[in-house]
Amino acid sequence: MASMAEVARLKEAGREVLSLNIGEPDFAPPAAAIEAAIHALRDGDTKYGPAQGLATLRAAIRDKLARDNGLDYRPEDILVASGAKQIIFAAAGATLDPGDEVIVPAPYWVSYPDIVTFFEGKPVLVPCQASAGFKLTPDQLSAHLTARTRWLFLNSPGNPSGAVYSAEELAALGAVLAEHPRVLVMSDEIYEPFTYGAHRFVSTGTACPALVPRLLTVNGFSKGYAMTGLRLGYGAGPRWLIDACTKLITQDTSCANSISQAAALAALSSPPDYLAGHLAEYESRGRRLAQAIDAIPGLSCAPPQGSFYLFPSVAGLLGKTAPDGTVITDDAAFVAYLIRHAGVVTIPGAAFGLSPYIRLSFATETSTLARAAEKIADAVRRLT
Ligand code: PLP
Repeated sequence: MASMAEVARLKEAGREVLSLNIGEPDFAPPAAAIEAAIHALRDGDTKYGPAQGLATLRAAIRDKLARDNGLDYRPEDILVASGAKQIIFAAAGATLDPGDEVIVPAPYWVSYPDIVTFFEGKPVLVPCQASAGFKLTPDQLSAHLTARTRWLFLNSPGNPSGAVYSAEELAALGAVLAEHPRVLVMSDEIYEPFTYGAHRFVSTGTACPALVPRLLTVNGFSKGYAMTGLRLGYGAGPRWLIDACTKLITQDTSCANSISQAAALAALSSPPDYLAGHLAEYESRGRRLAQAIDAIPGLSCAPPQGSFYLFPSVAGLLGKTAPDGTVITDDAAFVAYLIRHAGVVTIPGAAFGLSPYIRLSFATETSTLARAAEKIADAVRRLT
């Protein structure tokens, strides 16, 4: 919050601000999705729809899950909602009793613990180290399962770490869960299209078929189709869970937005090359930014695996002093220093439950990234 006030102050003072904190793609949705939204409005598609989502869209999502992910869901097992976030919120609301535990590997997307806490559940935060690729290991999972564990939340490709779980890694987690049949699994696959180099996305349900009866696969249109503001996501899972979530959404938003559903239906049938160019661009940006950051003494940054974030360590800078006498005690202090002295906005690892790291988004044009890297290097040089 203090950082946001500082950003506002810099902007007011006419200072250049480079935002590497953006959590949404900087490319446009598929043209067909925009056209479909306009047509839907013109054709009077402005009424309430089914709480579970349009049957045509759920059928198209079923086809997508079968084609891209090897998952065999029926349209009745699919719920369309106002964003992946609403699916996760509904699932937590429909299943958590006070005190129920949810295992959340850290670093995590900021909303997971807050959603769990909102429903009086207990987030069990498990720090996943850089040496393990920021991924939960089977031993860690085993050590944190209790009689109160209700869910394991997984996110691959990950926000903020970009970590991509392999099929073997997921299967190893699935093997641990075989002994704990009461535990549900939420697999947040919203960054599915964004993988780089040799890293390949695999759905948890494909890697762990035995988990499917207690698995909620979550995905949406915000990241892969750059439709964040249209608020459309979906979940696929066992019928009882989808029914319970639908009941909750019926008394919440009633149904997802009709225009957004028309856009999503068109997005799903957009040509396969829609994303190819963007992905090549993102991979090149991510690699270049990672190299530039890793070359700065005191920072260490691995090349991107997935999503559109880098999560470099700032451990080498802790204890250093800024020209104004401020000591860089932790990642939050470094982020505040970067805003103040370099006009570069990033997010501290602490916000995602793991320090000392910062999250940099490369969903921003190359020239901004290059300039931000130079400014970060210059700001680090001024630390003593
Ligand atoms: N899951 C993760 C890991 C995210 O990073 C985000 C958004 O930043 C979401 C879900 C939210 O997706 P939606 O816009 O579909 O609600």
